[in-house]
Amino acid sequence: MTETIKQRLTAIVGEQGLHLDEPMWRHTTFRIGGNADLLIEPTCEEQVSAAVALLKQEQIPYMILGNGSNVLVGDKGIRGVVIKIGNGFSACEAEGTTLIAQSGIKLSRLAKFALEQGLTGLEFAAGIPGTLGGALYMNAGAYGGEMKQVVKEVTYLTPDGEKKTILGEECEFGYRTSIFAKMDGCVILSCKLDLGKGDPKEILALMEDLAERRCSKQPLNLPSAGSTFKRPEGYFAGKLIQDAGLMGFRVGGASVSEKHAGFVVNDQEATAKDVRMLIQEIQKKVQADFGVHLEPEVKFVGEF
Ligand SMILES: Cc1cc2nc3c(=O)[nH]c(=O)nc-3n(C[C@H](O)[C@H](O)[C@H](O)COP(=O)(O)OP(=O)(O)OC[C@H]3O[C@@H](n4cnc5c(N)ncnc54)[C@H](O)[C@@H]3O)c2cc1C
Repeated sequence: MTETIKQRLTAIVGEQGLHLDEPMWRHTTFRIGGNADLLIEPTCEEQVSAAVALLKQEQIPYMILGNGSNVLVGDKGIRGVVIKIGNGFSACEAEGTTLIAQSGIKLSRLAKFALEQGLTGLEFAAGIPGTLGGALYMNAGAYGGEMKQVVKEVTYLTPDGEKKTILGEECEFGYRTSIFAKMDGCVILSCKLDLGKGDPKEILALMEDLAERRCSKQPLNLPSAGSTFKRPEGYFAGKLIQDAGLMGFRVGGASVSEKHAGFVVNDQEATAKDVRMLIQEIQKKVQADFGVHLEPEVKFVGEF
């Protein structure tokens, strides 16, 4: 990347918002990943669209990152630019029973804000460690809830840089997917969520109950990206992996969690290569034992 491009990006996001040769392990819950050539953290829509326009014009590859809780970044890092939509892009407000939020807000903060407003419907999301943008992209869900149920409309930048707003029912939400996953280079900017009036005590009680269930079943003390695989139709990935005798199975610094076989954890300074090989070994064994293909839910990005 030329000095001129770096200078032009600095002019857009400021010096504080631009990081050269940035270690990606700092930006992922797996705590794994080589360096990105450049990482920028825009703080408003204008910065996002100006940066995307420049990168498109100069044909520099870019990817969007939220909280990095569903990605495995390769050990050789990421060529081009990572646009991190995070804390600096996380305003939210309530209008009646509608929440309006920027996509970089963490789901935990958004769920807490809903609770403070006495709004119900987001309890399921309080323990998912992603941003609103990542949750919309993935149609994140837990304990019977999913983003699909609460999204009123989403505003995003199309891959051509056009700002567009679509209704929830136009988002093509499916199991851990959405229309945004089909548009390489689109950036989710903000969202309106349709919630209901609720009793704050009941909302809090449900959140605490779900947090307790999560804590007792999931290895939250170790770096991971949550469930490694999607749920195969008619089965549970964790149960298949456990029944294949793979609990605790290890490749290098990565292992199948002893607490929940559906989680691959980085318990001994794993490399991305370790995690990827472990995923392949799990897939082979489950295929051989049960004839079921496990599809990763985790996204592989960058160079391995
Ligand atoms: C301990 C743990 C528990 C988890 N539990 C759950 C769970 O219960 N349910 C569940 O569904 N998931 C769960 N996850 C997975 C993860 O938290 C979700 O998939 C979350 O929605 C990802 O959000 P993120 O901001 O971290 O996205 P990232 O991991 O940063 O990105 C995921 C994908 O979304 C894209 N993306 C992110 N932000 C934007 C944006 N603004 N515009 C366009 N594209 C964007 C990225 O390019 C990438 O392809 C868990 C993860 C962990 C570590």
